[in-house]
Formats: sequence, structure tokens, C-alpha cells
Amino acid sequence: MHIFKTPEGLHRHLQVIRQNGIRIGFVPTMGALHLGHRSLMEKCKHENGHCVASIFVNPTQFNNATDLEKYPQPIGKDIEMLLDIGVDTLFLPSVEAMYPNEQSKKMDYSLGFLGSTLEASARPGHFDGVALIVKKLLEVVEPHTLYMGQKDYQQYLVVKQLVADFKLPVDVVRCDIVREADGLAMSSRNIRLDKGARENAKQLSAALFYLKENAGSQPLAQLLEAAKRMLNDNGEIAVEYFEIRDSETLRPLENLASAPSKVALIAATVGGVHLLDNIIIS
Ligand code: AMP
Repeated sequence: MHIFKTPEGLHRHLQVIRQNGIRIGFVPTMGALHLGHRSLMEKCKHENGHCVASIFVNPTQFNNATDLEKYPQPIGKDIEMLLDIGVDTLFLPSVEAMYPNEQSKKMDYSLGFLGSTLEASARPGHFDGVALIVKKLLEVVEPHTLYMGQKDYQQYLVVKQLVADFKLPVDVVRCDIVREADGLAMSSRNIRLDKGARENAKQLSAALFYLKENAGSQPLAQLLEAAKRMLNDNGEIAVEYFEIRDSETLRPLENLASAPSKVALIAATVGGVHLLDNIIIS
């Protein structure tokens, strides 16, 4: 596996590969890799001649310094996994390499509604940071295909919008959520859950599965209330939002029965750890 720490080195390396007519797939991550990341990389590897992964804990998308500090960075273990998958190239830049000056932290682009709803209500500017780094990474890697996890559903839509607005020549592929055996969506943050919190955290996916399994047999609004009770009755889960939205735009739905494709999204803090999960209901 080739490892590059500077955008210039990586760009030169990939230019040769592209000129040889080889398809490049790209999986951006913040590391602390688990089987969810692995599934994206295996898909990328399967569908492209050259698979590039990046590991970069992007400071501009954190608005909580403690969260950034606590973000796990087990780089040795991550590299072992990448080697095992057969990832061809790893981009491992420093903060200085991606943000060499104050100007490089700015982006003159507004995400509009997608950048201000749901996850962004409690984390203002979060998706601006995501859009900023994804645009920089896409400019360096210039992949044919970009692999994004449904796990971060709003992020996936933000990136799709960014790619459309800047007319970037890349296909964005949405990849399924990989879950633990009891349903908990895999996340780099899960290792911070203590035993009790880990047990409580499985309620998030249980509530989503309950919604999906019963949609069609009962009115969705009623089901949503019952699913919310599953979380609130637990007492240890601080729900930030639990909503059903239009799956293309994330706009609120006036009539839950009307939209052809909907997504139920949850954000909650369990044992001090911020967790996200979602499910498509169509
Ligand atoms: P992160 O390292 O958290 O920024 O995630 C990197 C990529 O992996 C993003 O596109 C995530 O949506 C995706 N991802 C994270 N967790 C999972 C999961 N459990 N299943 C599938 N993809 C995931």
C-alpha cells in the first residue's frame, strides 16, 4: 500500500494511474476503522482498479473541542485493516497539509437547508466543515467514484449536493449501514460506550426497526410516537431528534403518508456519546 502525507504527492501518484485508464474509487474516513468502513472499502476495491482511502480527523467539522480531542486515532490498527483489505493507496495528511493557512479554512459556499437542519441544529457549521474537506479531498484524489455510508445520511446528502452544485465529475455511491449483531450501527464512537450505555444504545436501532416493520399496518405518526416512547422510557437516552423526513431533501413532511420515500433519523446521546442512526421507509 502506498501512503501519502501531502496532497501534491498523492495527486501526482494518482495522475499516472488515471492516465493509464484505471478507475479510481475513494473512501474518505476519520479512521478508528471498523467493519462499516471495511464494507465501503471492499465495495470500492471490487468496483475499481485502484482503491484510495483517506484518514483525516477534520477539525473544521468539530464544534466541540473535547469531542475532537477524544476522537480515537488507533492508526497502527487502521493500517493493518487497510493492508488486509488490499487498499491500494492511503492518504494520511496532517492538519497543516490540508489547512496551511486561515484562508484555506474558508469556503464561499452555502449548503442552504441541508446545512442547517437536524444534525446541524446542535452542531452549527458542522456540514460546512464536511463540505470543505470533502471538496478539498475530491480535488486531490479526483476519483471516478466516491463511497459514502448511509450511516451518516445527512452527510451523504450534503456531499451529493456539493458534487451537483460544483459539477464535480464523480459518482457518489451510498453504502448500507453495517450493524452489530444486536442492531447497533457500527461507529468509531461506540468504543467510548461503557457496558450500561452499550446496552442502552441498542434501543436506537430497535426503535427504527419497529417503525419500518410496522409502517403500512398503522399510521406513521402514531408509530413514531410509540417508537419515541421506546427511547424516552429507557431514561438513559437523551434524544436530540427523532424524525421522519423526505429522503431526498430532508424537508419535514406535512403528511407522513404522502412522500414516496422517507427516512427516519435519530440522534441521541447515550452515556455521554453522540450516536446517529437512520432507516429508509418507503
Ligand atoms: P467516519 O470515519 O465516521 O467519517 O466514516 C467514514 C465513512 O464510513 C462515512 O461515509 C460513513 O458514513 C461510513 N460509515 C461509518 N459507519 C458506518 C457503518 N456502520 N456502516 C457503513 N458505513 C459506515
